[in-house]
Amino acid sequence: MQNLRYCILFLSFSLITTKLCGQSKTDAEMIATLHEKAVVESKAYEWLEFLCKKIGNRLSGTPQLMAATYYSKSLMEQLNFDSVWLQPCQVPVWIRGEKEECRIVSSKLGSFELKVLALGNSTGTGQLGVEGEVIIVNSLQELEKMDDSKVKDKIVFFNRPFQESALYTGKAYGSTVDQRVRGPQLAAKKGAVAALVRSVTANRDDEPHTGATNFEDGARQIPCYALGTQSSNLLADLNFKSPVRVYCKSTSKMMGTADGYNVIGQLTGSKYPDEVIIIGGHLDSWDIGEGAHDDGTGCVQSIEVLRLLQSSGYKPQRTIRAILYTNEENGLAGGKAYKAYADVAKEKQMMAIESDSGGHSPQGFFYEAEAGISPEYQQSLKEWKVLLEPYGYQFVPGGSGADVGTLRPLKTFLLGLMPDSQRYFDYHHSSNDTFDKVNRRELELGAAAVASIVFLADKYGLK
Ligand SMILES: [Zn+2]
Repeated sequence: MQNLRYCILFLSFSLITTKLCGQSKTDAEMIATLHEKAVVESKAYEWLEFLCKKIGNRLSGTPQLMAATYYSKSLMEQLNFDSVWLQPCQVPVWIRGEKEECRIVSSKLGSFELKVLALGNSTGTGQLGVEGEVIIVNSLQELEKMDDSKVKDKIVFFNRPFQESALYTGKAYGSTVDQRVRGPQLAAKKGAVAALVRSVTANRDDEPHTGATNFEDGARQIPCYALGTQSSNLLADLNFKSPVRVYCKSTSKMMGTADGYNVIGQLTGSKYPDEVIIIGGHLDSWDIGEGAHDDGTGCVQSIEVLRLLQSSGYKPQRTIRAILYTNEENGLAGGKAYKAYADVAKEKQMMAIESDSGGHSPQGFFYEAEAGISPEYQQSLKEWKVLLEPYGYQFVPGGSGADVGTLRPLKTFLLGLMPDSQRYFDYHHSSNDTFDKVNRRELELGAAAVASIVFLADKYGLK
């Protein structure tokens, strides 16, 4: 009986491996071709150079973002994708205004300049600026528990540091960024006059890392700023014995809305044109640096995935769609516009992969598994793994991206490219995010990694 069980087990194992080996041979060759073509003939690095150096940073509502929109549309047209179009939406317009000022003002200690950047979507102080005594907190919970009278007219400084011991830095970011996103609104609710937030980075230079902060409609707004790491340490040190006072001035403000566009190009499926596989990044960036790793790399990789499949002579059965989303950074208007389109389009949004974690060397993919993953998706992952493990790619449960995340209610299989994360948050949302930080080969291999699973998902569907 035992022997019989082993025989059956052995037989089924042989059948599985034979099937996998049978299909692996040609599939493995195709995946090797995609990687080879990516490093030999790709122009993705040159496209990125144009975006970063000729156009520059691309905040929503700016002429630079419009230039990037038309540049990438014409790129897709020159590559002869089956169709290329702009998907319109309204994007919020936020302007930073004059260069921000922030300094410690102390009759005993003197004056110390602090390096700050206004947080995205934040209001300014007006020409007179604001001044207040600083209170330091390490978490939203700590501030929440504090009596409002202790917070009134103060400047709240959120100083919880980035968890440097986390090997995957995206986790460290996720566990610290609540201070920036929700901290200022809470400080305002409790009567503070301004908020300072330690930059969400492991970098020990003094470049502030901005990012969006959220104030609900109708909520009291206060000016708020990201503080450089060294400035944060200085402020915490000087505030240690007795509270110091800080003066801030900024003129940032919201300026209504403007026209914005997602740039979309596709290879139309030959057999199932209404089943769609998406690969996307976001074309907008913050108004500092060059938006290189965040997210110029994701945009050029998305275009490159389609070019690679095309250049390899592969004829997709399903529609492969590259989407360069607009306004990911301070509103997600592009992600929402595509979701609104998907709600009425007679299409199945089968799978979507986002590249918005930087252009460093590919290590594999995240996939969304919060609500559990269906057995079909699990089976596909298992089969992709066999073919992609030789490249060292892992499949890790844990999210996808903000833009493709809007498709969650449609049950789309959502993934994110997982690049090496060690340096991403050194650059992210700061003036350090420039073209010279991107390595050509790493960028190209990232596109090849994505093209590989797009190819497999297209050829076999999701089992
Ligand atoms: Zn991004």
